[in-house]
Amino acid sequence: MRTTHTCPRCQHDRVLLIDEVSERGDMNALRPLSIATAVVGKTFMGDEKLGLVGETLGGVGPDELRSSGGAASPVWMSAAVCRKCGYTELYVKDPASIPVDGVRVREAVAKKK
Ligand SMILES: [Zn+2]
Repeated sequence: MRTTHTCPRCQHDRVLLIDEVSERGDMNALRPLSIATAVVGKTFMGDEKLGLVGETLGGVGPDELRSSGGAASPVWMSAAVCRKCGYTELYVKDPASIPVDGVRVREAVAKKK
């Protein structure tokens, strides 16, 4: 849909391309929606601390990113929305950058036909 600009459900030919999909976080602040979480460290109690996958890859957090005007994390989401029926497709900006840990993120491979 983001390349054909045609809705696969209703065939409408107007599509909105949303570069960054956001959600509400702490203090009701907008932050970019991220597809996956990962262990990024330990809490003061020694438990696993979860965070955005991009944080484990040396990326900066959304707040720092907004203040610096830097580039988006590769694991944040973009979207294509049909202007007529609202059908929406979400995309990870760089799916290859998501680490596979076998627990929170598992990779499935299709069987060859
Ligand atoms: Zn549509």
